[in-house]
Amino acid sequence: MKKLFIDIGGTHLRSEIEEGESIIRETVSSQTIGLLSYIDTQISLHPQISFIGISYAGQVNNGIIAASPNINIDEYEIVAAVQSRYGIPLVIDNDLNCAILAEAEYWKVDNLAALFVGTGIGAAVIDNGKLVRGSRNMAFEIGHIPYRETPLRCGCGRNNCIELYASGSGMEKWLKHFGRDIYPDLEQLKHSIDEAEQRIALAFEEAFLCAAGVLITLSNPDLLVLGGGVIEQNPYLATLLREKLNHYTLSPSLEGLRIQMSVLDNAPLEGAKLLERDNG
Ligand SMILES: [Zn+2]
Repeated sequence: MKKLFIDIGGTHLRSEIEEGESIIRETVSSQTIGLLSYIDTQISLHPQISFIGISYAGQVNNGIIAASPNINIDEYEIVAAVQSRYGIPLVIDNDLNCAILAEAEYWKVDNLAALFVGTGIGAAVIDNGKLVRGSRNMAFEIGHIPYRETPLRCGCGRNNCIELYASGSGMEKWLKHFGRDIYPDLEQLKHSIDEAEQRIALAFEEAFLCAAGVLITLSNPDLLVLGGGVIEQNPYLATLLREKLNHYTLSPSLEGLRIQMSVLDNAPLEGAKLLERDNG
């Protein structure tokens, strides 16, 4: 029997097909293929697939994709569609929920928060060993807290989300806005001689500190785990938090707080592997 695990983000779709000890890995652009089309292809190539676990960079509730600011959707009712076509059980959850399940397993901590920055910025919280989901599985959607009005449009449709500043897609939108056709590399922007580029990097840092401060203030964890492509490429962001977070949250909530970079290769994908256990 084979199991298919997928991590779909705003840029990449990464998958693993597991059969005993053997693993087949694949990475494709998530902009060029829909999730259901991808599953169709994998099942036609591997008809023995008996379980599918998916980490999804968007809002997901009860097997239905509710919204996805950064991904094109080819099927909202993904669980029902796969069930009716193939009769294969599929569990799908938000990518940060998946990531924090994997992080909790790794760090063995009962009170933790995860803050990941890549194409978007997302968070999740485990409180006393239990994932905080909210009524529609959308708790701690930190990317879309109101921050400052901008001339830009967030993937969710609003113009004032913190994701418009503290994310890869946010930096990209600002660069386009100022007519710069370059890759949004935070480190490069920070040290640019171009004042507009420097301002984008500084605005990123300020929004990132603010998002982390809000997350710590509201969730009061023992451990904050940082991950995602932008943070991995800019590990100084962890130091920035350690140095400046006291200006963004209540000081007692920083007592004993540990801040760690994720050491997992792909925490959302590792979490997708735990979905069968947690939903079994
Ligand atoms: Zn938004």
